[in-house]
Amino acid sequence: MSTVEWPPALPMFCDVALPVPLDTVFTYNIPEGMLPVVGGRVLVPFRQKRLSGIVTELHERKPPVETKNVLSALDSVPVLDDQLLRLGKWIADYYLAPLGEVFRTMLPLGAEFKRAVGYRINEEGLMALHLAGMSGSSARSRKTPEDQFAEFCVLEYLAGREDADRELIKEGTLRGATRASKALLAGMARKKWITREDFSGARDASRIVKVAVLRNAEGKLNANQQALVDKLAAAGGKVAVETLRTLDVPRTTLATLVKRGLVELVDEPEALTRSQLKARPSQLDFQFSPAQQRALARVRGEVDAHKFAGMLLHGVTGSGKTAVYLAAMRWVLDAGRCSILLVPEIGLTPAVAADLHQVFGDEVAILHSALSDKERAEQWHRIKRGEARVVVGTRSAVFAPVADLALLIVDEEQDSSYKQEETPRYHARDVAVVRAKMADATVVLGSATPSLESYFNAKKNKYALLELPDRVEQRPLPEVELIDMRQEFQETGQEQVISRKLLAEIKHRLERQEQVMVLLNRRGYSPVVLCRACGHTMQCKNCAVALTHHKRTHRMQCHYCGFAARVPKVCGNCGSEYVYFLGTGSEKLEELLHGLFPQARIGRLDRDTVRSHEDFERALNALNEGQLDILVGTQMIAKGHDVHGVTLVGVIAADAALGFPDFRAAERTFQLLTQVAGRAGRGQTPGKVVLQTYFPDHYAVQYAAHHDFTGFYDKELQFRSWMHYPPYSALANVLVRSDKLDEALQWSGALGRWFEKTRHEGVRVLGPAAAPIARLKQDYRYHLVLKSPSREKLNATLRAMLAYAAQEKVPRTQLIVDVDALWLM
Ligand SMILES: [Zn+2]
Ligand SMILES: [Zn+2]
Repeated sequence: MSTVEWPPALPMFCDVALPVPLDTVFTYNIPEGMLPVVGGRVLVPFRQKRLSGIVTELHERKPPVETKNVLSALDSVPVLDDQLLRLGKWIADYYLAPLGEVFRTMLPLGAEFKRAVGYRINEEGLMALHLAGMSGSSARSRKTPEDQFAEFCVLEYLAGREDADRELIKEGTLRGATRASKALLAGMARKKWITREDFSGARDASRIVKVAVLRNAEGKLNANQQALVDKLAAAGGKVAVETLRTLDVPRTTLATLVKRGLVELVDEPEALTRSQLKARPSQLDFQFSPAQQRALARVRGEVDAHKFAGMLLHGVTGSGKTAVYLAAMRWVLDAGRCSILLVPEIGLTPAVAADLHQVFGDEVAILHSALSDKERAEQWHRIKRGEARVVVGTRSAVFAPVADLALLIVDEEQDSSYKQEETPRYHARDVAVVRAKMADATVVLGSATPSLESYFNAKKNKYALLELPDRVEQRPLPEVELIDMRQEFQETGQEQVISRKLLAEIKHRLERQEQVMVLLNRRGYSPVVLCRACGHTMQCKNCAVALTHHKRTHRMQCHYCGFAARVPKVCGNCGSEYVYFLGTGSEKLEELLHGLFPQARIGRLDRDTVRSHEDFERALNALNEGQLDILVGTQMIAKGHDVHGVTLVGVIAADAALGFPDFRAAERTFQLLTQVAGRAGRGQTPGKVVLQTYFPDHYAVQYAAHHDFTGFYDKELQFRSWMHYPPYSALANVLVRSDKLDEALQWSGALGRWFEKTRHEGVRVLGPAAAPIARLKQDYRYHLVLKSPSREKLNATLRAMLAYAAQEKVPRTQLIVDVDALWLM
C-alpha cells in the first residue's frame, strides 16, 4: 500500500541564470516558505553582490558544493513563459552566449531589477538596538508602541546582514513586517539609525505624462464640460492633461468629469503621445493593387492555418509593403490574436507611431529605442497583461511577451540594426523566424533589397516568395545615370566633388521648384587631417583610426570611440604649421552646395545634426512640407521615407564602401544605392538618380543602376560560393582583445595553435590576424574567422575553443564570439 504525501514536498533547490559572463546556471537553496517559479525572477547573493536572475529549474538534486539561500522570490507568476524560456535557451546555444545575459536582454525590466533600494544599519542604529536589548522592558514586549516595536525588528534584521531590501521587509520576511512602511524606514533614516542606498541611481521618471481618456459622453454637461469633451472627442478620445489646461475652462471641470466616470486619467510615456507630423492618410487608404491583394491573401491564409510559415515579401521601393503589413496585422487583431512588427532603428518616427495609433488605437504598444527604462518596462507590462496585442518596435521587440502570437513581420529585414553588436550577439530577424516556428506562427520578412541569406532561403523554398514588382499607381522606377569620375577628372583637369552633370541636374530641379537629395555616406567636414610637411595623419589616441575634421566645432573626432580634440596649430610629429584637411564629408558637401546655390534652402541629415527621433522627423517634415530644396546626408536619408516632392537623387562616391575589407561590401553598396535611388520620384513627377563613381563597371553599381536585383543576386551568390562565405557556409568571427598588446597577441596565438593542433574536420580557420581595425577603444584586436558548411560542426568547434580558452585563463569578456557576424572589422 502506497502512501501519498500531502502536501507534496516542495523542491529544495533552484537553478538560476544570472546576468554574468559565465556559461552556466547557479544552484541556490530555497528557504522554507518561499515559492519561486520557473521563468520568474529571484534575488540571490552572488560573490559580493546581490543579483536578480531567472529560475530555469526547480529540483531536488543536492549539488556537491554548499549552496546559498535565495534572498527573495520577486515574481509569483513567470515573467518568461515556456516559449520565451525555450527561445532564450536557443539563443544562448546558437550564439554561444551566457543564458543569464540572454534573459536580461529579453526582459526590459532592468529598472525594476535595479530598483532595489537598500538600507544599511549605522553605528547609531547598532547602539539603539543595543540599548533596547539592555533595557529591562524588552522592546519585544507588547507594551511598547507598535512603531517602536517595528523599528526594533528592522534594526535586528539589518544587524543580521550586510544590507537588506525594502521590498524584502515589505514582503514580510521579518516579524512586524506590515509596520515597516516607507514612512517608518524614512523616519529611521532621519534618526540616522539606517542609511538609504539607491543602487539604481537617479531614474528619469519625468517623462511620464498624465493623459485624459474619454470613456463616455452620456448625461447632461454644462458648457465647460462640453468644451472639454468636445476637445477630447476631436482628438480621438485622448489628450494630455497639460494640453487641456490651455483651454479656457476652470481646473475643476476636468476633476468633475473624472469623478462622474466620463473621463479617466492615465499615465503614458511622453515620447509618443505627440507628433509634429500629421498622420498620412495616403498610407492608410488600403487601396490595394492586385499584387498587394495577392500578398495579403497569402499572409492571411497562412495565419489562419495556425502552422509555421515563412515568407519573403520582396517589393521594389514604393510598392506599398507597409500597407500590406498593417492590413495583415489588423486581420490578426480582429481574430483576437497577437502580432509583432519589427522595424529598423531609424524607422520608428513619431509619425509612424501616429499612423499606428490611427489603425490600432490603444491595442498597439510601441517599443522605441528612445524610451527610458521605466517607459519600456511599462510597455512590457501592458503587453504581458494582454492590453496591447499589436507590438511594433526595434530589435528587442522580438521578445515581446505576447500570448497567442500569430504573425511576426520584419520590415527591411536586411537592415544591420537587427544585429545586436554586444552580448548576446543575436540577429532579431533570425530569432523572429525561430520564435515563429515555436509559436506555430507566420513570419514575413519584407524588403526592397533582401539579404542574400533570405533570398537564398526563398529560392530553396524554405520561405515562400511574394513579389511586389511595381510601384503603387504604376509610378515608374527612376532613371539612373552613372557618372565616371575618372573621366570627369580627365576632362576637367581637377578633382571634383560634384560632377558637371549632377550640378546641371540640381540647377534644373531647383528652377522647376522640385526637391533634391544628395547622399554622401561620410559625416564630418574632412575625413583626413594631414601634415603636408611630413605626411603624418592625425590618429585617434584610443583607436587605429584617422580623425575626422568637424569644421563647425573646430574639432577632430573619432567616429568609433567619440574621442575629440582641437585641431592642432602645428603637426604633433614634425612641428610644421602645414596642417591640412583632405577629402569631403557631409558637412563640407553642405557648405559646397550653399556656395553653388546661395538661394537654395539646404538641410543636412546625419548623426551630427540628428540627436533624436524628433530632430530626424523635423528635417523630414521640412522636406515634406516644401521648406527645403535640398537635403544632404549620410545613409540616414536613404531609408524608407516617403517624400513625394523629391525628383532627383545625387550620390557622391557611390562606391565608398566597396573598398572595405569585408565580404559583404558589394551587398551593402548594392542595397544602399537601391534604397537611396528609391527615394526619387515617389510622387506624380518621375524621378532621376545620378550616381558618381570611380568604379562604374563594378557589378554592385551596375546592377543597382539597372534596378536588377536578381542579376546582382546571381552574381554575388557565385562569389560567395567560390569563397565559402554565407549563405554557403556558417561563419563566426572570433575576436580577442586586450588593452595590453602582448596579452592580445599571446591569447590569439594560443587559440591559433590550438586550432592547428586539434583537428576540426569541415571547419576552416583563417588567422589569427590583426583585425582590420587593429586597435579600438584602447583595445588591441586580433581575430580568427571560422567557416563551415555544417552549423553543428562550427558550433561544436566554438564550444571546444571556449573551453580551451577558459582553461588557459583567457577572460571570457575579452573573447568575443560573433556567430553570423555582419562585420569582420
Ligand atoms: Zn577612437
Ligand atoms: Zn608633420
